[in-house]
Amino acid sequence: KESGAMKFRRQHMDPDSNPSNNSNYCDQMMRRRKMTEGRCKPVNTFVHEPLVDVQAICLQGNITCKNGHSNCHKSSSSMHITECRLTNGSRYPNCAYRTSQKEKQIIVACEGNPYVPVHFDASV
Ligand code: ADP
Repeated sequence: KESGAMKFRRQHMDPDSNPSNNSNYCDQMMRRRKMTEGRCKPVNTFVHEPLVDVQAICLQGNITCKNGHSNCHKSSSSMHITECRLTNGSRYPNCAYRTSQKEKQIIVACEGNPYVPVHFDASV
């Protein structure tokens, strides 16, 4: 069965690609990573940094998550990310996304032993 850590890697990690000037990146990746099955996931962020650097965020600044839990951590450095946002007219099963690249600090929720990312909370 897929663990929380595995789900985070599937939904949010893409270390070896730089989607620069590929406006189809989100359409392709949201489908490839199985976020368009049953429904179109409305918003999702991919992180283009080494897994070890994203895992290390769990040891960085501890903050409160959007849901009020206290297991969120903000990266001390900004990271290369791509935000995928469902377009207004998009209707399941034709999930169409807007792809936008950003360089921002990210906030992840961590759990377990080892204490690793299980949820992407925000970028700031
Ligand atoms: P994401 O939120 O990363 O887009 P999901 O919503 O599919 O992805 O999964 C997030 C998982 O992380 C859920 O299983 C949820 O229970 C877990 N989780 C652990 N801590 C938190 C938290 N502080 N806020 C939100 N989800 C959390």
